[in-house]
Amino acid sequence: MAESFSFFQKVNRDFDKAAQFTEYPRGLLAQIKICNSSCHFTFPIKRDDGTIQTIHGWRAEHSHHKLPTKGGIRYSTLVNEDEIIALAALMTYKCALVDVPFGGAKGGIQLDRREYSDSELERITRRYTYELIQKNYIGPGVDVPAPDFGTGETEMAWILDTYFAMAPDKLNAIACVTGKPIEQNGIHGRKGATGRGVVFGLEEACSLAEDMKPLGLSPGLEGKSVVVQGFGNVGYHTAKYLMEADARVIGIIERNGGIYNPRGLDIEKVVMHREETGMIRGYPGAELIENPNDGLELECDILVPAALENQLTAENAPRIKASIIAEAANGPTTPDADEILQKRGILIIPDTFLNAGGVTVSYFEWLRNLSHVQFGRLGKRFEDQSQHAMRRAVEKATGYQFSEDERELTHGADEEDLVNSGLQDTMITAYQEIRETRMQYRNDKNDVDYRTAAFINAIHRIAQSYMQLGIFP
Ligand code: NAD
Repeated sequence: MAESFSFFQKVNRDFDKAAQFTEYPRGLLAQIKICNSSCHFTFPIKRDDGTIQTIHGWRAEHSHHKLPTKGGIRYSTLVNEDEIIALAALMTYKCALVDVPFGGAKGGIQLDRREYSDSELERITRRYTYELIQKNYIGPGVDVPAPDFGTGETEMAWILDTYFAMAPDKLNAIACVTGKPIEQNGIHGRKGATGRGVVFGLEEACSLAEDMKPLGLSPGLEGKSVVVQGFGNVGYHTAKYLMEADARVIGIIERNGGIYNPRGLDIEKVVMHREETGMIRGYPGAELIENPNDGLELECDILVPAALENQLTAENAPRIKASIIAEAANGPTTPDADEILQKRGILIIPDTFLNAGGVTVSYFEWLRNLSHVQFGRLGKRFEDQSQHAMRRAVEKATGYQFSEDERELTHGADEEDLVNSGLQDTMITAYQEIRETRMQYRNDKNDVDYRTAAFINAIHRIAQSYMQLGIFP
């Protein structure tokens, strides 16, 4: 089967499929779908060996219906204009879906970070930021980047420092980028937020016995076998929190090979092995999977692609043995694969919903930066004291002595508690809304899948926001 869709065409195909279920004017749907603005720029950098190299960078702001726009910056050799626009569009729908008041954006630089020294990466990141400033593609009220594939806290700190040095408004400049280190005005819980959100989303999806029954699975995450592709920020945190939820991570696949143990892998020990040797291959507690593609076809309950787009294709979809595909990466399933997997009765939990934890906590970080106060700072001590007073009163009145574990529960919420609680609520609410939409639009002729239901919800939210502007009747 030919897979002739570009990434952006694939996103638009999903959009069109969902738009059929709505009654908005064609012009409005076209406006929602189109990319509002994008920019490709090149600049030179001096390599450590003295040679000059031209670097290609992009930033796309898919939708200005809400400002600022928001989306990560990725460093990968696969970066091109189509990919960046497609990812920016996904950000628009994702933000709408989880009710985060941003338009969608994305940026990228075409490079393999493993081929550059830290000081070269710093020069590239700072120059890229300078280009964004010159073109008005960054600012707390304009466009706010975050980490994505190949970038992390360090790059975000360089972006902040460069922007801050040049910003006319120093008061709010720290809100120009999210995913920053804690010491650089980041927020507790952002680093693991996408993975944590994946697990909150999966927990909710797997909690419903009636949805698990057709898959031959019992409700709950406990004991479910999981294979994770990509052991970077999203893959590692997803695996870690799945393990904490008593799921069994039996396989991890990286680009140069995977590891497999049907009894479950100890995630922190795998991390330690990688720190010592530079790779997960050779981890002593597991079998080696020489060819990473084979890892995707392992027998498991849940397959979590957490690396890149286009990993599940028409070629390998017939051999996928998982019952649930949890799209932690953006766009990991091609349209042809999607059709094959849906027909085979495999439940696909879509990227637009499942990896929205990152942008949700980025929203909290942005709010924290604009309000210049750590969440929980004002109330924590007061809450602590009133909870303790209440506990002592109950103990005195009833004679019951709370155990250490029960005492642990009665403490004032710190920033990370509040962030995780907001994230959990966001993921649960969004999942329930998608599921409701799926039930509402499903009939004998149409089996509305979760991806389509997610797009329907996103289209409704964005359309409503345009209608309120009075542009469309
Ligand atoms: P990352 O750079 O931290 O990690 C990616 C990992 O995937 C790396 O370990 C890399 O070696 C591995 N990898 C690359 N190609 C692979 C292949 N073919 N097979 C197996 N492993 C491979 O990136 P990340 O931030 O974890 O992002 C992963 C995905 O999640 C991307 O699609 C990204 O857009 C999406 N995402 C990330 C965030 C975030 O907060 N970082 C938020 C939402 C979505």
